[in-house]
Amino acid sequence: MTRAVIAFGANLGDREATIASATRAIAETEGITLVAVSPVYETPAIKDSGVDHEAPGYLNGVVVVETSLEPHALLDLLQAVEASHGRVRSEHWGDRTLDLDLIDMAGVRVADERLVLPHPRAWERAFVLQPWLDVDPSAELTGRGSVAGLRAEARDEVVRR
Ligand code: AMP
Repeated sequence: MTRAVIAFGANLGDREATIASATRAIAETEGITLVAVSPVYETPAIKDSGVDHEAPGYLNGVVVVETSLEPHALLDLLQAVEASHGRVRSEHWGDRTLDLDLIDMAGVRVADERLVLPHPRAWERAFVLQPWLDVDPSAELTGRGSVAGLRAEARDEVVRR
């Protein structure tokens, strides 16, 4: 079993209900044991052009699991859960009902056209680091060191719900 950290984000529709339903779908999957669900944070939408205060805000957080799934099989699951929650992709980094990112799998490194692991931008995203820290104060991001240290350096604002 490998510990995996999954980040969720939702900025359209009934965001709490979507997150609860997606968490349930992940937890009920064979080969996955739920370890922790973080508190939820409110963050402004980020578009190609930067922070977009006009777009509806995101609810963000993380789910920590233990899994026997291979990284690509876990990505398959996350994409299936996104699809079953009505994600419509209108633009790169566009508004979405549900975004699921695979953040880290305890020391595993992958870099191919489908999957980059650890997630290449997680180290600088407070909306990933803060909720991860909440559920695991001694967390380490593969190749980047302590999540607490990274969180202290991250500049974007997150507001606990
Ligand atoms: P996005 O629209 O930001 O959710 O990006 C989705 C795309 O990123 C998909 O085509 C995935 O195959 C790819 N991807 C690469 N690495 C990851 C990762 N660590 N977690 C989730 N998606 C990833």
